[in-house]
Amino acid sequence: MPALIEVFPCRSDNIGVLIHDPATGATAAIDAPEADPILEVLAAKNWSLTDVLVTHKHADHVEGILPLKDRYDLRVTGPGAEAGDIPGLDVAVREGDRVRVGTLEAKVIATPGHTAGHIAYWFEKDEMLFAGDTLFALGCGRLFENSPEEMWQSLQKLAALPDATRLYCGHEYTQSNARFALAVTPDDPALQKRAAAIDATRAAGKLTIPVTLGEEKATNPFLRANEPALAKAVGLENGRAADVFAALRRWKDKF
Ligand SMILES: [Zn+2]
Repeated sequence: MPALIEVFPCRSDNIGVLIHDPATGATAAIDAPEADPILEVLAAKNWSLTDVLVTHKHADHVEGILPLKDRYDLRVTGPGAEAGDIPGLDVAVREGDRVRVGTLEAKVIATPGHTAGHIAYWFEKDEMLFAGDTLFALGCGRLFENSPEEMWQSLQKLAALPDATRLYCGHEYTQSNARFALAVTPDDPALQKRAAAIDATRAAGKLTIPVTLGEEKATNPFLRANEPALAKAVGLENGRAADVFAALRRWKDKF
């Protein structure tokens, strides 16, 4: 049976996600930005939390873990490289490890860049990717602990997954990311169309997540650093993709 997903706002701009395995009743939160909204959705769905899958150590992704552990007998899985910084961690995982939520199965993908130990969870059979703060809809995470080269490699790993994969990210930054993307390639019709759709979604008070990786590969400037149009936009015609990516990231930091 396919996974059931609930997506909801947490804190000021975090995205909460619950995935539920109908076959076993197992339910996982992807990160735990704060406990209350997660508890509310669990109660509304009559689901019981069995797992938390952590993408990285930042407070706005882990602060809800211990309050949730008080309420549920749950297993916390997270990046081994950040084990000391994740409260209540039970299972430390690394690149290539398999993680199970009931009968659902994810593969762990190491995505250093935003933080050095950051990981993503790819549920291949269910065609969903939980990318935390590595890849956002039309954007990517800030580089706190790694070089642009390393983040570009991480993004390339995610971009290599099938186009139909649904991307769930850690924050609702899509509208401001769209404004930046339009500043980079203002004449791109696919991007213009997408930005208008995002504005309408936000005006209706809805989250813009999930999106497909195919759509991201076509319109996210940070996944397109290997395309001539993007190299030209940052004044690096014929430049290396990693350098184009670095220039885009620097531009966005000041945008
Ligand atoms: Zn973060």
